[in-house]
Amino acid sequence: MARELQSRREELGELLAREEGKTRADGIGEVIRAAQVFQFFAGEALRLPGERVPSIRPGVEVEITREPVGVVGIITPWNFPIAIPAWKIAPALAFGNAVIFKPAELTPASAWALTDILHRAGTPPGVVNLVMGRGSQLGDAIIQVVDAISFTGSVRTGRRIASRAIERMVKLQLEMGGKNPLIVLDDADLEIAVDCAVNGAFYQTGQRCTATSRIIVQKGIHDRFVASVAERMRSLRVGHALNSATEIGPVVDRRQFDSNLHYLEIGDHEGASRVGGTILQGETPGFYMQPALFTETSNAMRINREEIFGPIASVIPVDDFEQALEIANDTEFGLSAGICTTSLKYARHFQANIQSGLAMVNLPTAGLDFHVPFGGRKASSYGPREQGRYAAEFYTTVKTSYVRP
Ligand code: ADP
Repeated sequence: MARELQSRREELGELLAREEGKTRADGIGEVIRAAQVFQFFAGEALRLPGERVPSIRPGVEVEITREPVGVVGIITPWNFPIAIPAWKIAPALAFGNAVIFKPAELTPASAWALTDILHRAGTPPGVVNLVMGRGSQLGDAIIQVVDAISFTGSVRTGRRIASRAIERMVKLQLEMGGKNPLIVLDDADLEIAVDCAVNGAFYQTGQRCTATSRIIVQKGIHDRFVASVAERMRSLRVGHALNSATEIGPVVDRRQFDSNLHYLEIGDHEGASRVGGTILQGETPGFYMQPALFTETSNAMRINREEIFGPIASVIPVDDFEQALEIANDTEFGLSAGICTTSLKYARHFQANIQSGLAMVNLPTAGLDFHVPFGGRKASSYGPREQGRYAAEFYTTVKTSYVRP
């Protein structure tokens, strides 16, 4: 798997760009990520640990082992159509499960390409099963035949899957939305803070569940920070996904584009100021928009409560660190959160008290390693973590054996 993904990274990266609209460079990066994930879990298959412990009864031995869960339903979104299925399918197979893979409606070609490689890599017949179609029609049918479901998508769909799955006591792992905050304190390195904000909020057209959406900025650095971000935004090259100069590709489809424009209207009506957000005409058809930054916003506004999933972020001005932390945690979500500061005291306090699964210090809220756990709290996630060694928790079930030899 890893070898073929690596050797075809240019071609598959281009396929991702053509199908989803991410830049070719991001597409290639995603294919490399998928290859790394398969390589990592190939090793994990041989490292699944067990335990042997003394019993309270003489002459009895106790062994704790992990076994496959069975058939795992894997339901995935369109924003990382190769990497997300890879980080679910790789541990599923490494730990001995069969898979029913239901990709997003918008990205069938990427899903087919990945499944084709899996089949040719020698997975036995019936172990990896690709089913295409509308989630609303297939979802319930999948839930009826699986032992576990790993889902990434919207909170609404996640809740629906959870309520159906629980009737059959199906094991669940749900990764859903975010409203990820980035705190910028007065003592931050301005260049790092601007990089974190622009990368986190706008790259990949803001279509990442870990994207920065609420930028909480202390008043002493506020004006310099907003001016620098606005300047960087003006120089961002929005365009065709296959043009090598492009930094931000088009929005994935009309539905998402209309939703983004609707949130711009909502923000304008709520009284926020705005930089950017203009609709752009490309040389070819597509849903191109300039990234947008709302300023002078409050955390109570809808633009700061609901996940937008586009290249749109807000600045919330604050007086001090304590207020920033309170606002950062005042959300129904808890996936990723970041802080830009040169103070160890504030960085450590943030790390310990932010209510999120991922905490980033002087780094963007998005952009993760493949070998460590990924997941969030509150409405962002449900069930065991994905990725790294922690993936074994979901893709295996524990057996405790008592033996009198
Ligand atoms: P998005 O808004 O990103 O499209 P969704 O949560 O609607 O997010 O979609 C994520 C995945 O969930 C897709 O593969 C979609 O087909 C699937 N899906 C949508 N509705 C259901 C459902 N009722 N049951 C199971 N899967 C669903």
